[in-house]
Amino acid sequence: MAEEHGGRRYRLVLTASPLQGHMTPMLHLATFLHSKGFSITVAHSELNRPDPSKHPDFTFVPLQDNLSVTADFSNAVQFLQALNDNCRPHFKQHLIQIINEQKDTSVKESVVVIYDNLMHFSGSVAGDLGLPSIILRTSSASFFPAIKIIPQLHQEGRFPVTDSVLQEIVPELPLLRYKDLPFTGLPIEYTLQIINMIIPKTPPSAILWNTLDFLDPSADTHIRDHYQVPIFTVGPLHKIIPTPSTSFLEEDTSCITWLDKQAPRSVIYVSLGSLANVDDKVSTEMAWGIANSNQPFLWVVRPGSVKGFKWIEFLPEGLVNEMNGRGLIVKWAPQKEVLAHFAVGGFWSHCGWNSTLESMFEGVPMLCQPFDLDQKVNARYLSYVWKMGVEVAVERGEIEDVIRRVLVSKEGEEMKQRGMEIQEKIKVAISHGGSSYNSLNELVKFILSL
Ligand code: UDP
Repeated sequence: MAEEHGGRRYRLVLTASPLQGHMTPMLHLATFLHSKGFSITVAHSELNRPDPSKHPDFTFVPLQDNLSVTADFSNAVQFLQALNDNCRPHFKQHLIQIINEQKDTSVKESVVVIYDNLMHFSGSVAGDLGLPSIILRTSSASFFPAIKIIPQLHQEGRFPVTDSVLQEIVPELPLLRYKDLPFTGLPIEYTLQIINMIIPKTPPSAILWNTLDFLDPSADTHIRDHYQVPIFTVGPLHKIIPTPSTSFLEEDTSCITWLDKQAPRSVIYVSLGSLANVDDKVSTEMAWGIANSNQPFLWVVRPGSVKGFKWIEFLPEGLVNEMNGRGLIVKWAPQKEVLAHFAVGGFWSHCGWNSTLESMFEGVPMLCQPFDLDQKVNARYLSYVWKMGVEVAVERGEIEDVIRRVLVSKEGEEMKQRGMEIQEKIKVAISHGGSSYNSLNELVKFILSL
């Protein structure tokens, strides 16, 4: 039963996106807000639904998305358009139902919508019904100025980026090179459409960011200048409150038993997240690099993530023999537990924001292999600003060298040291009186003022 706040009850309707890296922080936020006495409804697409049995105190509302069969994540514009168009009517109907039900009760309930920025229909429906809405952004803060500047660069003839300037610094964003900007290899019309979709038109009442003030204060300034609404930096949400597993895929926990038998900080953990697809040539180079490094490894190969293969059939037999006994390949790992394990010494990652935060919280140095979006910005910050990561070029000789640099060299030792300092700062930020701790308390007060 939800607590009453000053004679009122609050129902928070959270709209979660069907992407793993977006669903997880939303459910963490929901768990935190529930612990503060708010009633929670999670509206979600039918595709990639959360598991209601793990959150018995929440109400779940599946929205008819008609996407389950046709979903094609590779065309982001089409996918997001269909997701938003299809979920909108049912979401509106549901909110109207909640509002009408209240009319018959003695205790009034205030309804506040909190939505993932990819699910922008929620903000516009909330606006139509006169309800306040708050956006949760699950990417890094530094990503925001990097996308916001692209239309301007395009107008000035500096985007799409030519090969000759890729290594040069973007003068307006002195920490980034042109090659670190998102969407550098995509058609410009498509890029502008995506940017239009992810920078909201309907002004929200506030914005939550799953990040920390100390990691990127300049990005924070860009954001506060752009949006004239309160911004709450509340990350890393996965460390704020214990939450049951939010994985869509089954976690193979046998890897933890295997890690228990390895030497401290000896294992390279390899995972490219929930969306990235690679071709078999790249995956085979990765495998040779891992094998030739002679370090123990734990490698997540998501089924279907290597184009044209169900799982690891792309690996030649000789290579499998080479790798046998030295490591483990799994389909999906309990990543946060893996990163917290004493045996893991490095994380080879695509640098998705959740993976980055999870690794930083455990002080694990990273090998950065970004694909696109915020991953390129995160990789640049990891290697150049936070100095706890190195960039990897996917070529077997380079890979084995980088793995050894991270796991068994002085440079790796320094990155580890830097990782431990960052971990300490994050712990301070989420403890009593820290920036994220205070921000979350301010958020609760803000919601109660709506
Ligand atoms: N993850 C996991 N097990 C795996 C691989 C990934 O639990 O084997 C989780 C990881 O902990 C993170 C999320 O999947 O929370 C991936 O999100 P991220 O933002 O890093 O990348 P995305 O998948 O959105 O590209």
